[in-house]
Amino acid sequence: MEQITIIGGGLAGLVSSILLSRKGFNVTLYEKRDYPYHKVCGEYISNEVKPFLEAHGLFPDRFEPSQLKSFQFTSLKGKSFELPLDLGGFGISRYNLDLFLYQKALESGVNVHTKTSVSNINFDGDRFHLSTNTSSFESQLVIGAYGKTGGLDKKLNRGFTHKNAPFIGVKYHIKTDFPKDKIALHNFESGYCGISAIEENKFNLCYLGSREMLRKYGSIEAMEANVVRKNPYLKDIYDNSEFLFERPEVINAFSFAPKKSVEQHVLMSGDTAGLITPLCGNGMAMAIHSAKILSDCIDRNFKGNRLQRDKLEREYSSEWKTTFSKRLRVGRNTQKLFGSAITSEIAVWLMKNSKAFAYRIMKNTHGDPF
Ligand SMILES: Cc1cc2nc3c(=O)[nH]c(=O)nc-3n(C[C@H](O)[C@H](O)[C@H](O)COP(=O)(O)OP(=O)(O)OC[C@H]3O[C@@H](n4cnc5c(N)ncnc54)[C@H](O)[C@@H]3O)c2cc1C
Repeated sequence: MEQITIIGGGLAGLVSSILLSRKGFNVTLYEKRDYPYHKVCGEYISNEVKPFLEAHGLFPDRFEPSQLKSFQFTSLKGKSFELPLDLGGFGISRYNLDLFLYQKALESGVNVHTKTSVSNINFDGDRFHLSTNTSSFESQLVIGAYGKTGGLDKKLNRGFTHKNAPFIGVKYHIKTDFPKDKIALHNFESGYCGISAIEENKFNLCYLGSREMLRKYGSIEAMEANVVRKNPYLKDIYDNSEFLFERPEVINAFSFAPKKSVEQHVLMSGDTAGLITPLCGNGMAMAIHSAKILSDCIDRNFKGNRLQRDKLEREYSSEWKTTFSKRLRVGRNTQKLFGSAITSEIAVWLMKNSKAFAYRIMKNTHGDPF
């Protein structure tokens, strides 16, 4: 029987696996894809995670991530507002970051099964019964770190799976002429697009859009021509950049609806516990932070073979709520200012006329360094 099983090898899964393995647990991680691979993400990481990553030898210095210090926001019609970032962040591709952490997981003694998808989980009151595309096995403890979409949520009958999932995400890597220390968020009808530097003189261009628009125009290309490029800043980027992927990375059908951090005794981490709107640039930091909180809770409540499951679940749910709930709520509310002609103009006007308002929103969408 496996001691701790982690489903999903993104940031939440990999960081938990490293921390728990270093604490002496026997950890097995299942990742359905093979490293390295591209993933839809704006690739801007809040500096709140830097002290933690450095303290554990997990900061990816050797890729020389970009340092992001200022923020630009434009309305649908191209009105613009800029201000320095209060905490700032760094930029690195998920292609390199996830590969780097995967290598750290192997070095830390984690048993990693790549190209292995977990397809079923059941809890019998004492242990979990799991199956993958190749085998069935049992485990004492299971961490769900499988991201924002996937069949497992439906199998667990999680509440939010019965609601609408109206969003899509699209990502490119590009070469372009843009300041390396700036992150910009450009609005377009029903969505917004970020641009910021990553490593190797490349830039990430990534947007959140709606499935409705995609359905209306029939293809990503047509939607970009008719909707995304209507913002003059985005038109300029599309017209004057070299696009480095043959086709964009796309994810379809997800939502920002609240989720539970423990479901049928599976301890959820990262996006599987709660997805913050990307305008906050905080999903990756939350995935890393939730991995830390969860590993500490497990360490306190799983000694030798004695697992205090109820206490562990209570402590984790409570710490998760205290640390992340407000941020998720602010993110959901702030997102209402984006993606429409009227509200995006109001947002630029408000930020231009009240720096205090702009900084208050900014501060509430990220956490403190840990
Ligand atoms: C458009 C967009 C832009 C974003 N931009 C930013 C940004 O700039 N900054 C930021 O901080 N956050 C951003 N985010 C959010 C960020 O990408 C996520 O919060 C972060 O990736 C969460 O990490 P995770 O480990 O929880 O999930 P993931 O990184 O998604 O990892 C989940 C892993 O589980 C694997 N998996 C799934 N199902 C199974 C299964 N059944 N069995 C085995 N493996 C499985 C997947 O292959 C994947 O590798 C953005 C999100 C979107 C949608």
